[in-house]
Amino acid sequence: MDTATKTSTKTYQMYIDGKFVESATGKLFPVYDPSTEEVIAECPAGNAADVDRAVAAARTAFDDGPWNATTAQERGRVLFRIAEKIRQHTAELAEIECRNSGKPIVEAEYDIADCATCFEYYGGLATKITGQVNPVPDNAVSLSLKEPIGVAGQIIPWNYPLAMAAWKLAPAIAAGCTVVIKPAEQTPLTLLELAKHFEEVGLPNGVVNVVTGYGEEAGAPIVAHKDVDKIAFTGSGSVGKLIMREASATLKRVSLELGGKSPNIFFADADFEAAIDGALFGVFINQGEVCSAGSRILVERPIYKKFVEAMTEKAKKIKLGAPLDRDTKMGPLVSKDQYERVREYQEIGKKEAKVASGGNRPSGFAKGYYVEPTIFYDVDNSARIAREEIFGPVASVIPFDNEADGLKIANDTPFGLAAAVWTRDIFKAFRMVKKIRAGIVWVNHMQPTYYEAPWGGYKQSGFGRELGPWGVEEYLETKQVHINLSEQPI
Ligand code: NAD
Repeated sequence: MDTATKTSTKTYQMYIDGKFVESATGKLFPVYDPSTEEVIAECPAGNAADVDRAVAAARTAFDDGPWNATTAQERGRVLFRIAEKIRQHTAELAEIECRNSGKPIVEAEYDIADCATCFEYYGGLATKITGQVNPVPDNAVSLSLKEPIGVAGQIIPWNYPLAMAAWKLAPAIAAGCTVVIKPAEQTPLTLLELAKHFEEVGLPNGVVNVVTGYGEEAGAPIVAHKDVDKIAFTGSGSVGKLIMREASATLKRVSLELGGKSPNIFFADADFEAAIDGALFGVFINQGEVCSAGSRILVERPIYKKFVEAMTEKAKKIKLGAPLDRDTKMGPLVSKDQYERVREYQEIGKKEAKVASGGNRPSGFAKGYYVEPTIFYDVDNSARIAREEIFGPVASVIPFDNEADGLKIANDTPFGLAAAVWTRDIFKAFRMVKKIRAGIVWVNHMQPTYYEAPWGGYKQSGFGRELGPWGVEEYLETKQVHINLSEQPI
């Protein structure tokens, strides 16, 4: 029987110790379709008591097994089976993701298939986690062993709901950790849907626990819990700072993937058509609700005017619409809060710079958290729209004079998640790559993301790296082992 849904409508339960359960208080919170503003589901409003239950289950599964007795090969197979389940259910998961987050269905389908790839990647990596032999100057064998950190608390944002969960769950499982994961309150549905398959794929009870609820009620107790060994957080800088402070009480390991204000830098010699598409894609994909959005578009003066005109012309043709409509290129923002925040920045931008396109709520939408894709130009890098993360489809176009000037503006930001450089001059490209202070630099491309390559920020965009072997390293401790080989050691 399907225990995740209490009724044929959409009242969900959360997943603790291998069972779908209600919250300790029995309270629920509403989950919306941002295109209709209607409630589409209700989820348990978890609190500290639920987190206690989940952490206890995760602790037992880690300390007493059977998880601590599994081999890397077995954990790898579990990950492959999760991937298979996602592939079997891509269409329904994508539809739920699309309805719940507002992202266009075509993008949701891509995201969900990509989640399967993430589990496959870490399924393969599980058996490649190795330690090393240390060449100590003695008659001894010195080893460094890699061991799972223990119970990992994982806190997820709403912009790529299942993908952000997959980026954290897959390496934690590969490493042999157990997990208490909290999806964002705006978008908990796809992770709960995936949890329906956890038993069947062979995850023992307690290995992955999904607690739903609001940040302060269900997230903060995970961070504070004395039996949680590590916190992996993706979200806003303000909550990231709070988490770092709270985690210090128990000296938990912390990794933070935070926001950005990434520069997308266009030199005059760039391929013009590709550059325009790269600028638009970089800032408007996923309604601009992207941590690595190229929201500061730096354009060299010789092409500046033509660039703004070409961008504007194409931006005006972006089709806003119902997320489930296959022609839709941009859906609504995820929530009322996010809508109000982005609308406010649109108004701030009108005072700080010139409007090339957008700047308002689009006409023709009676309901839904839609905003126009917006391009401001002649933006000064000191303006709020150039300094603060908006997390919506709002671009700030900034002119620059030459390489040194472009670099100075690019680095003049508290953030350092990503950057892109567009030029045909490989020497210039490499000079920029070396001097940009960001964790990810793309050349003649924007936003490609691979499981094989590291993801994470410099400066206030956080620390720690996800994806690739770096991602699994965040869930491992290193143990030194010294084996004396002398009969009589001195
Ligand atoms: P948010 O910080 O508001 O919330 C993120 C998560 O933290 C949610 O699950 C929320 O419930 C929880 N939370 C809130 N308060 C908490 C508290 N006191 N203790 C513990 N948990 C708490 O962020 P958001 O609005 O969901 O996401 C948008 C932000 O995420 C943006 O800043 C964006 O740049 C960032 N982001 C970064 C990356 C990256 O890889 N660097 C990826 C996606 C999103």
